[in-house]
Amino acid sequence: MENFSIPPATDGRKIWLRVGTLLDGVSNQPLRNIHVVYDKNGILLVGENPPPADLLNPTQREPDLDLPDYTLLPGLIEAHAHFFLEGGELNLDKRSAYLKQPSENLLKCARTRLEKLVRLGVISVRDAGDKDGVGLALNKLYAGGQRPVMPYVDSPGAAIHHQGRYGSFMAGAIENHASLRACVASRVKAGADRIKLIPTGIINFKQGKVTTDPQMTTAEVSELVNVTKSFDRQTFAHASGDVGIERAIDGGVDSIEHGFFVRDDQLAKMRDRQIAWVPTFAPVQEQVDHTEVMGWDADVVSNLKTILEQHAVSLVKAHKMGVQIIAGSDAGSCGVAHGIGFMYELELMERAGLTPLAVINSATGTSSNRLAFKEKFGQIKSGFQSRFILTRHSPLESVSNLRKQKFVVFDGEVFESGDSFDSIGL
Ligand SMILES: [Zn+2]
Repeated sequence: MENFSIPPATDGRKIWLRVGTLLDGVSNQPLRNIHVVYDKNGILLVGENPPPADLLNPTQREPDLDLPDYTLLPGLIEAHAHFFLEGGELNLDKRSAYLKQPSENLLKCARTRLEKLVRLGVISVRDAGDKDGVGLALNKLYAGGQRPVMPYVDSPGAAIHHQGRYGSFMAGAIENHASLRACVASRVKAGADRIKLIPTGIINFKQGKVTTDPQMTTAEVSELVNVTKSFDRQTFAHASGDVGIERAIDGGVDSIEHGFFVRDDQLAKMRDRQIAWVPTFAPVQEQVDHTEVMGWDADVVSNLKTILEQHAVSLVKAHKMGVQIIAGSDAGSCGVAHGIGFMYELELMERAGLTPLAVINSATGTSSNRLAFKEKFGQIKSGFQSRFILTRHSPLESVSNLRKQKFVVFDGEVFESGDSFDSIGL
């Protein structure tokens, strides 16, 4: 623990920090020796010069804390997680037994993760779909009067797929509705913040490729996207395999999730059409990390490694080309624990070849700008929420340092977390 504390910003109290390094969530360079003033409702000022007296508490002439060795950065946005799943569990029988629980139990388990996420520095989660209403219930919990300590939660409710095709554990079928419009409308009516589509299958690890045809045609994706736009919402598409990725891109989705086997010409199209990419390395890397538990033989492991290496090459290219990269771990997938798995995802993006700053921007400002959440977080900028991380372990050396001791300020309230972290139930 540190030998100082950050005063909480309660009862209209303003806090004035001077930090050695500021990562504002969008800039390509760190900012040095910056003053930040905030209260519990938001950030009031960010600048190189000391704030004017009328922005401060009466009689305040000095910063509350002058921290030349510290880095301030926005709280992190996990852009792809499944709250209804427990990610840390590797045993497949236990995983399927877990999923057979009633929805209320899944929600109860998910609630235990909320404060842990905030303490880790994750201040917003875009849920990527469940058919049990867990994401939507958490979204309501956030909006309600009795909000516990929890990240902002954005949810699509049930994802949309075709009957009999991949995704039934998290999606509802188009065939249950009279039309594509009716299908999207049902999600909106249930409270969906955006619409999750499953236009493709998944990777066949044994063969090292996507072996099934895409489940949606380009025309279907396009119509689902257009209907969703008419409800003033975004779409995000589970898509792996270049044939299915092409359909998702041509259909006009807002982001490609996973995107394994994406081609360079497709990355160029994504850049030109402002389609973001959420590469989700963690679920595939976890298969490699736990080969024995998963029962994979040497051939499969070699397939997985090749896929991950290619994915890393594509990520670096995409970033250089100007594709908007957004960090999301697919937490809830086998081995990908909520929160901790997201930290791992950031490390994997760094390992792939992005700079730590590029990774941090993908988990903060790029994410919030592209995904257009209803609240303002993801940047250290006047008018944004007071939700940020303060650490003396510079994340510019490595994003792994975000795992170490840090302060998390959340609407002015201060949480301090150490190197060890209770990972039970994540
Ligand atoms: Zn997912």
